Parts: sequence; structure tokens; C-alpha cells
Amino acid sequence: MARYTASVCRLCRREGAKLYLKGSRCYTKKCAFERRPSPPGQHGVRRRKVGDYGLQLREKQKVRRVYGVLERQFRNYFDTAENRPGVTGESLLRTLELRLDNVVYRMGFATSRAQARQLVGHGHFAVNGISTNISSFQVKPGDRIEVRETKRAREPFKLAKETLRSHQAPEWLSIDAAKLSGTVADLPRRDQMPLDLNEQLVVEYYSR
Ligand code: SF4
Repeated sequence: MARYTASVCRLCRREGAKLYLKGSRCYTKKCAFERRPSPPGQHGVRRRKVGDYGLQLREKQKVRRVYGVLERQFRNYFDTAENRPGVTGESLLRTLELRLDNVVYRMGFATSRAQARQLVGHGHFAVNGISTNISSFQVKPGDRIEVRETKRAREPFKLAKETLRSHQAPEWLSIDAAKLSGTVADLPRRDQMPLDLNEQLVVEYYSR
């Protein structure tokens, strides 16, 4: 399974926005973007003119990086979204939101999508009672996601049990903190997905 392994803070600096890829560190003074918001590299501070293509490319990269998906898989998601009825950009975002690692993160079992991906990959979760270790697994309304019984005593879940009580999950998910489980109540609407992502620019990028 290929994945990005270099510094993720560089990605925030490249996109010119906080992407919250490092969990709790992102909310502290240690955040690299807070300390140095210029793009990474020797010529990062140089002013550059950005045209339409540049804007579309940057937005596509931003969406891809927020969800931790590599280019080929992202392109596949786009192609699938394009062939579905409805608005392509919205459908793309919905597919990304319904990835198991994102749902685990949104439910509050992990502090970042990267941690969620690792926990899923290590087989800590079950979907509808079946152990699932594929982070790209697509969940659907009615699916029940839970921490497997044998894994509940692990450190991240002891912590999650405490934080889950005050965790604000999106409306399309319901959580049972005591049982370390949650259910996908509905498909996410556009206004329940990140509003700072401009999916239209992604559609324009791939439609050139
Ligand atoms: Fe981005 Fe978080 Fe790193 Fe800040 S700490 S630069 S928000 S990944």
C-alpha cells in the first residue's frame, strides 16, 4: 500500500492553509504553518502569479491531501463520481467522506485521518461485525462501525472513550461512546462536508 511518508507540515505550507494533518499538534503553537506560512523550499517566499490552472491544481492537491489519498486513487474516485448521476464535485467529496478511515476520524476514534488510517490498517475496527482493515472501504447508511472487542483496552481507545463524550460528530453519524461504536445514519449533505474545499475547481482541473 503506497502512502506519502515525507513531512506533512510541508503540505500545509504548500497549500497555504492549515490542513490539520497532525491531530492535536495542529492546535498548538508548534504548528509549522503558524510559525512559517510561506511555501516550502529555497524560493518559497518568492511572490508568484497564479493563473486559473494553478488555482485548480492547488485545490485538487489540497482536497487530495486533506483526505490522504494518492493521485491514482483520487483520479479513480473522480472518474467514478463523473459517471454517477448528480453533481460530480459533490459526489467526489461524498465518496471521500465515506472512506472508513475518514469515518473513524469523524467519529472521534482518532485525532487525525492519518492515525485513523493506521488504526484501521492494524485491524482495530469492525464494520457490521466483520473485521475490516481496508482504510478506503466505503461505508454506507446503516453500517455500524465499532472498535473490536479484543482491541478496546488499547491506549488510543482508552483515551477516545474520554474524549468521545464531548466530541461533536457530524449529523450524518451517530456515536455510542460507551460501546466505542457508531453508525452511519445518512449520506452526508454538501453542507455537512468541509466548506473550505472548492470541489468545482477539482472538476475543472480534470475537465481541461
Ligand atoms: Fe498542518 Fe497540523 Fe503541521 Fe500545522 S501542525 S502545519 S496544521 S499538519
